Amino acid sequence: MATSVEDTRHCELPRPFLDLNTEVLAAWLKDRGEPAMRSRQIRRWLIGRGATSFDQMTDLPLALRQQLAADFTPFGTSVVQHLQSRDGTHKLLLCLRDRQLIECVLIGEDKRRTACISTQVGCGMGCVFCASGLNGLERNLTSTEILEQLLHLRNLLPPPGRLTHIVVMGMGEPLANLDSLLDALQAAGAKDGLDIGARHITISTVGLPAKIRRLADLGKQYHLAVSLHAPDDRLRTRIIPTNEKTGLHDILQAADYFFERTGRQVTFEYVLLGGVNDGLGQARLLADLIRGRHAHVNLIPFNDVPGLPYRRPSDESLAAFIGALKESGISVKVRKRKGSEIDAACGQLRRSALPQIPSESGRPEPASPAVV
Ligand code: SAH
Repeated sequence: MATSVEDTRHCELPRPFLDLNTEVLAAWLKDRGEPAMRSRQIRRWLIGRGATSFDQMTDLPLALRQQLAADFTPFGTSVVQHLQSRDGTHKLLLCLRDRQLIECVLIGEDKRRTACISTQVGCGMGCVFCASGLNGLERNLTSTEILEQLLHLRNLLPPPGRLTHIVVMGMGEPLANLDSLLDALQAAGAKDGLDIGARHITISTVGLPAKIRRLADLGKQYHLAVSLHAPDDRLRTRIIPTNEKTGLHDILQAADYFFERTGRQVTFEYVLLGGVNDGLGQARLLADLIRGRHAHVNLIPFNDVPGLPYRRPSDESLAAFIGALKESGISVKVRKRKGSEIDAACGQLRRSALPQIPSESGRPEPASPAVV
């Protein structure tokens, strides 16, 4: 893969503060004669209060701030590109400690400030129309790398900036990295953290039945979105190769289970690929699948990905598709296109940035926004 250069220097870089677990941190503080409660105080500065350096933590003793700066870095990820589109959507390209690149997006709409975050570098699901998985999976993100995306995005907002929603719809398959995701969301949910409740968090999955059931059993109110993209197994396997193993039946049953356990209506996402899955017959088959379920359909007209042979549906076929679903009493919405000038479809910015390997130091300075 061309994304990263073989580089072990990151091992010598200071550790990101949010990577430290409570015991390690308590021991580090004890060695310096500081009480364990400092740990919470520092996390609160970084997560809840938007600090980007230890220096800003003015209620900590100066010596402690200096020791923190010597041993740790406030963030392990750094912004290497910041794009802003005319509709106010921001997209960040982040460099990780091993010089991999990931993307995250901030979407503003009315009073909502929604962060769209990634859970993996690349993706192993192989959906044929998606830019994220074109080169397969590199690795899972750590919970700190997931959490830091939220912090970088929140820090774009003028103080006291507050994110209102999270959609886990960036690069990667969230349910293939569920433990790290849940840890990050737990930190995001804390009252003295980002204070974003589960009801304001949407997790989008290609449909991994066992993981959907596990998520359902957590007793949390996350919103689940399942990427269906086809109304029958033959077509779905063509579009999403992993469907060969899972199959629609098990996915729908797991989605039903999610509703039973959580009482939360599931969203079925359906990317419309012109001439592939946007026919009237397919809309009717989809309606047959969804009818009687406590569910909602979100249609996503394909976002162009350079080099891929797919196209958006025509206005006529989109209207006919919506009409067929509505006729069957299905609740349906078309996803608005945000940030299209800044490669907002997941994985595209990273792909276009692949040849630009970050600077020698491996710790590039935050980029200033480019408005395109
Ligand atoms: N792995 C998760 C998250 C993927 S991104 C999942 O499969 O749900 C969120 C949604 O965007 C998914 O439905 C995904 O299929 C869709 N998507 C990916 N690339 C797209 C593109 N180029 N155009 C439109 N939708 C796309």
